[in-house]
Amino acid sequence: MNHINKIEHLGIAVNDIEQANEVYEKLLGVPPYKQEEVESESVITSFFKVGDSKIELLASTDDEGPIARFIAKKGEGIHHIAFDVDDIQLELDRLEKEGFRLINKVPKPGADNKIIAFVHPKSTHGVLIELCQENTVK
Ligand code: ZN
Repeated sequence: MNHINKIEHLGIAVNDIEQANEVYEKLLGVPPYKQEEVESESVITSFFKVGDSKIELLASTDDEGPIARFIAKKGEGIHHIAFDVDDIQLELDRLEKEGFRLINKVPKPGADNKIIAFVHPKSTHGVLIELCQENTVK
């Protein structure tokens, strides 16, 4: 079994999801295939397919939400890299043992029918890492 299968998507923090959708539709030549609000994270997301990978746009629905705070600090731009894994809990346990700082020790429901967990950018040279696994419980 692989630890990390592939880059599942790149997350990009944006101020205005509708405006960013238009720009990325122009850039990629396809409209987003899905738009979804994740209330627990105070974000609205939209997803574009790029070959075998995806681009996720994230806009905050709340001035105090994590994306709003990210943009206030760093401006719009790449927010996280998401890796597809077969067994997210196994990977979280492995990474913790390797000394990585986990934001979520237990995975939680994310957008696009995934269960997800984040690894702190302090332990990955400044890049927020998301692990995601297809949620097979529908
Ligand atoms: Zn993501």
